[in-house]
Amino acid sequence: MTDVDVVIIGAGYAGMYQLHKLRKIGVSARVIEAGDDVGGTWYWNRYPGARCDIESIHYSYSFDEDLEQEWNWSERYAAQPELLKYAKHVADRFDLRKDISFNTRVEKLEFDEDADTWTTTTDDGAQLTSRYVIAATGCLSAPSRPKFEGMEDFAGEQYYTSSWPHEGVDLTGKRVAVIGTGSSGLQTITAIAPDVLELTVFQRTPSFAVPAHNHPWTEEQLAEIKADYPAFRERDRNTRIGFFTNAGTGLMSEAPPEEIQRDFDERWQKGGLGFNSGFADALIDARSNDQVAEYVRSKIREKVKDPETAEKLSPRTYPIASKRMCVDTGYFEVYNQDNVTLIDINEQPIRQITKDGILAGDTEHKVDVIIFATGFDAMTGALDRIEIRAGDQLLREKWAHGPRTYLGLMSVGFPNLYMITGPGSPSVLSNMLVSIEYHVNWVTDAIGYLNAQGKTRMEPTQEAEDNWVSTVNDFGNMTLMPQANSWYMGANIPGKERVFMPFVGGVDTYAQVANGVATVGYHGFDLT
Ligand code: FAD
Repeated sequence: MTDVDVVIIGAGYAGMYQLHKLRKIGVSARVIEAGDDVGGTWYWNRYPGARCDIESIHYSYSFDEDLEQEWNWSERYAAQPELLKYAKHVADRFDLRKDISFNTRVEKLEFDEDADTWTTTTDDGAQLTSRYVIAATGCLSAPSRPKFEGMEDFAGEQYYTSSWPHEGVDLTGKRVAVIGTGSSGLQTITAIAPDVLELTVFQRTPSFAVPAHNHPWTEEQLAEIKADYPAFRERDRNTRIGFFTNAGTGLMSEAPPEEIQRDFDERWQKGGLGFNSGFADALIDARSNDQVAEYVRSKIREKVKDPETAEKLSPRTYPIASKRMCVDTGYFEVYNQDNVTLIDINEQPIRQITKDGILAGDTEHKVDVIIFATGFDAMTGALDRIEIRAGDQLLREKWAHGPRTYLGLMSVGFPNLYMITGPGSPSVLSNMLVSIEYHVNWVTDAIGYLNAQGKTRMEPTQEAEDNWVSTVNDFGNMTLMPQANSWYMGANIPGKERVFMPFVGGVDTYAQVANGVATVGYHGFDLT
């Protein structure tokens, strides 16, 4: 006897769909969410300019045709308010909130070996027992907050992009510093540059960015997509990255220069993350990769008037797309404004935060506001922050030298605990909505199967987990991706083991494997 069949942690897009899906098979579930409403990423990340970088017609739920037909995205890339509105609409439409406990953080999970149940302890001291726990805790939900000396002495305002105040912040006429030039940093910088008095950007590693060419949708364009939405979605699922980009299968190393140039020009013109998918070896062959990189660098030189600044903004220390590429709308042009200064912290390290600003190298930059766009403890951070215990083992200790899972779904020693878009699955290398829906469907089917068979416990075998970890590593090592100091590698977090965490083989290949595993009665799992 448990309080509920399943505890789901997190009410982002993953947790919401998981709840809906379990209800459909008659399984009771309670969602526990730290925030005070649904939306996850789009609930927390309210910084100026926040928007998705995969077009919303792809980056949206596909599980309900009526939902698909009735919702109209206003722009090619929806901004955060619209993405949050969408989450709220889904919560209302499927009456999700009544099974969600908001403002509640899961602190501890403990497995009972005799009963095959989990006990979940929350920050209000309450406990809940369940047969299964599904961690829909998000890959980018545990903010990284590096400590700078003197932070507490700063007299001005400090904000993190990852937990931006809900009431908004008026930056008009202020001297603002932004630390960090990843995706959130780029979006923030671009959005606030027109309004602030002075903007000082502190950059450790420049990002490759491709143009968004964002635009409002016309009714005709949306109608055309909706006319055959199921086929459109199916096409997405059969790609490597979860959205259709008309990816090329030829090799750049064998293509004539004019063909390469034409492909780059066309894709640049189209905009978005499909830019580097024209050739199959762009992430495998270093020379091919550098051709793509050099094309982007040449565009940066075209956009930024000062050659020295353009060079500082040009990534040279890692292969293109081995760190998450950004999608921009006028980011580089910001540096042509007189009131914008770029500080390379490799040359002028941040020594401390002072009462009036930031001391970098020998210069104190006086500012009223500091914005930290310092990223996340990706993929494992949210799970590591929970004390997950089975027997005498803690998950975070088991994963101390890198996460170990079978299919990114479960980990040996932690039965009945599923992860949505866990490490070892395509997750962050894909359109996350496709990966989320795939995992939710897979997990729901597995629970339905266990119930139908009268079984109460599911756990991967050691052999299956070891083989999968090797597969994930082998695929990663076939590419240039492990060369970057990226958050995919955990390299942005001091002390975190450098391991390439996601499965790079593609959502299409992954689904074939995971479908096959399920079809033959969950090969590689012990079901008892
Ligand atoms: P999340 O949305 O992160 O939700 C997880 C939820 O779990 C959160 O609400 C959190 O509060 C809760 N939670 C975590 N731990 C606990 C706990 N211990 N107790 C209680 N609650 C807990 N992906 C794309 O595919 N395309 C994009 O364009 C894109 N843009 C992004 C932009 C930003 C700024 C960020 C940060 C991420 C972006 N992503 C994008 C990735 C994005 O995280 C996923 O697309 C998706 O929103 C993840 O949904 P989720 O439900 O899995 O996780």
